Amino acid sequence: MSEIPFKGEIRRDYITGSDVIFTFSRDKRPKDFKNEEILYGKAENCPFEYGKENLNTTIKFVGDPWKLRLMYNKYPIVNENVTLSDKEDFFTKYVNYGHSYVIIDTPDHLQKFYQIKEDLLESWFKLIIDAEDLAYSDEKIKHVYTFRNNGSISGGSLYHPHTQVIGFTFLPPIIKQELEIIKNNEKRCVIEEAIGKEGKRTLLKDENVVAIAPYGSRFRGLSIIVPKRHMDYVGRLDDAEIKSLAKFIKIILEKNYKIFGSHSYNLIFHELKGNKELHFYIEIAPRFSNFGAMELSGLYINSLRPEEYLELFNKAN
Ligand SMILES: [Zn+2]
Ligand SMILES: [Zn+2]
Repeated sequence: MSEIPFKGEIRRDYITGSDVIFTFSRDKRPKDFKNEEILYGKAENCPFEYGKENLNTTIKFVGDPWKLRLMYNKYPIVNENVTLSDKEDFFTKYVNYGHSYVIIDTPDHLQKFYQIKEDLLESWFKLIIDAEDLAYSDEKIKHVYTFRNNGSISGGSLYHPHTQVIGFTFLPPIIKQELEIIKNNEKRCVIEEAIGKEGKRTLLKDENVVAIAPYGSRFRGLSIIVPKRHMDYVGRLDDAEIKSLAKFIKIILEKNYKIFGSHSYNLIFHELKGNKELHFYIEIAPRFSNFGAMELSGLYINSLRPEEYLELFNKAN
């Protein structure tokens, strides 16, 4: 790959105050999804297959032959090779400093994420913790965003199952919003209150973890998976909690495939290391359409109440 001259930048929209990450280099990245059609990326063209390890810089392999891989993102949203500097004016610009890592979830190009064996999903959690700790070891990093884009309308551009871990020097709006809600909730942790009060919308629970279809679900079939113990980020999980989370992710994704058929989804970690108030949880958001004008206004439309989703969930066996 030739040198990419433009490293990207973050500009603030002076009308809405939204920060926009410009990633010019990403235009050059490979695309498996195009024009809303799913062009199932063929394994022979995929850069994440066995024998093509030299195409990316790997930080850690798990297993021999490897079953999971942590590596630097070749097409980073933010990257480490820029100087950190802010410039304020009518035109506000930030340098897009950060860390971008990719985890290859499985060597099998066509494997669904829920089909990955439970013990390997536990290793996946541990690799995420490695990646997050690596990002957080840089004191400039304020927030690490871990997520999976799965499918053509999830924002994903490559078919091969993978997870992204991105270290930002700032807090994304969703985390700021969640902190604002906590500030206005004098009782206690919002997530723990939800665990206590969402009984009739509880999808799954065991001694460590609860899965809920939240009252105000923004998307059809949305679920959150929550460790009962209060913790700021994924790195505090013990082995038993990791086991429960891995099991619940598998069950929910598999049931969602039974309920909705093949579909796109996002899987997102909500967390903030070092913050005492935010309670770590994982969100699974099935995606059936791109954002419309309503969503662009900040409002969401959902045609499936969480109570109805729960009914479908319980029937899907
Ligand atoms: Zn592949
Ligand atoms: Zn809590």
